[in-house]
Amino acid sequence: MTDLHRLSIRELSEGLANAQFSSRELTEHYLKRIAKIDVQVKSYVTVTPELALAEADAADTLRKAGGASVLTGVPIAHKDIFCTQGIKTTAGSKILDNFISPYDATVVAKGKAAGLVTLGKLNMDEFAMGSTSENSYYGATTNPWNLDHVPGGSSGGSAAAVAADLAPFATGTDTGGSIRQPASFCGLTGLKPTYGRVSRFGMIAYASSLDQGGPMARSAEDCAYLMNVMAGHDAKDSTSMNQVVDNYVANLNDTSVKGLRIGIPKQYFNVSGLAEDVKARVEESLKKLEDMGATLVEIDLNMTESYVPTYYLIAPAEASSNLQRFDGVRYGYRCENPVDLMDLYKRSRSEGFGAEVQRRILIGTYALSAGYYDAYYVKAQKVRRLIQQDFLKAFESVDVIAAPSAPTTAYKIGADLTPVEMYLGDIYTLAVNLAGLPAINAPVGFDQNNLPVGLQLIGNYWSESQLLSVVHQYQQATDWHTQRAAIAEENA
Ligand code: GLN
Repeated sequence: MTDLHRLSIRELSEGLANAQFSSRELTEHYLKRIAKIDVQVKSYVTVTPELALAEADAADTLRKAGGASVLTGVPIAHKDIFCTQGIKTTAGSKILDNFISPYDATVVAKGKAAGLVTLGKLNMDEFAMGSTSENSYYGATTNPWNLDHVPGGSSGGSAAAVAADLAPFATGTDTGGSIRQPASFCGLTGLKPTYGRVSRFGMIAYASSLDQGGPMARSAEDCAYLMNVMAGHDAKDSTSMNQVVDNYVANLNDTSVKGLRIGIPKQYFNVSGLAEDVKARVEESLKKLEDMGATLVEIDLNMTESYVPTYYLIAPAEASSNLQRFDGVRYGYRCENPVDLMDLYKRSRSEGFGAEVQRRILIGTYALSAGYYDAYYVKAQKVRRLIQQDFLKAFESVDVIAAPSAPTTAYKIGADLTPVEMYLGDIYTLAVNLAGLPAINAPVGFDQNNLPVGLQLIGNYWSESQLLSVVHQYQQATDWHTQRAAIAEENA
């Protein structure tokens, strides 16, 4: 079979179950594609062919013995922020270039337990700080829809790999949009779950009160399969919630679009940087949902202007604390010939961290420093609470809230935006993390340059099933999610 990469996760599961192909054939197929096509896409930091084939063979053996479960033998690739025992985990940073974790992240361990086959580790902005994946020590990943453009970030490698059919699905993480924005830029479906739904154990920390892992795939259905693996309580993550996990696949048809009340925040559609094509595609998708029976309700989200400043205080503050552990002693990179301990700390960190990471450590340290703590950090926390309350009030009258995932389509590589210009591009995604809510991106068309546009739907706490279900209904009635970039049509 030459087109195994065209199959959905459900089709892969069925094909393996019916012995139409083996996990080894499927895995070899993907490895061949990676070897040929990833030269241009550059989505993988590390490919693990030997491990993948060994896991594939084990999956095939297990299946013959009657022990297979639904995803046994299906390949996956992980964002390089999830620790993988025995395989390098870099978080896109020079400082972790030689880091091999002694243990697996819970998400990775759950994947293995479900029988998933690891193809490798995917590129990302250094420590998940960025929106283009250009902030990676390993170089820029390209957007499969147009190789001169970025795939978004920070989970840009995950998005590009799936969009180029170099992995059937992938893990990502989202601290301020890093699943939804690259999914939007690459024409994919990506879900940022409720804070606490997916374990953060072994997921290298950026901003711990905002970080959340989630699935990136071609469709809501594919995401549902991966959510069934990723979600759940974990005693090793004290912020992970101990509450019933849905069967996201079984629930895909549970929410009807008929009668669904979709909130349209006035403030979101008046943002000055919102590109016309993006606005038009998002509005068309909302019209489609309306035709399918949804009611569009105009709502107010008054705190919109505070999203960017609040996030860009809290996230760097937490990052400056989390990143203290990279000191040249315990992990990773150490400078040459330090004269004393202070020199070792200073030079290891100056040489090991990239510019954006250093900028955020400085901002965060400043915001937390004795004289400024109340004025910046404490104030930001209070505003954060107001942002959350704004959403809770909105959810009294609507079921979900619609927004673009990003104000523009994918930037050109090397566009060289100033940090503030870049941060303003996160306007539609940050509040969801500040409030701890779940949200999903769905592809809804293209701009005039044939770059994908995404619709974001934000749900109330624990409404992952509902979000996946609504997007699934939309995807039954439209075909944006089935369109492929030209490079994905290439055969290896
Ligand atoms: N783009 C945002 C940032 O640079 C969000 C990143 C993320 O979600 N990890 O911080």
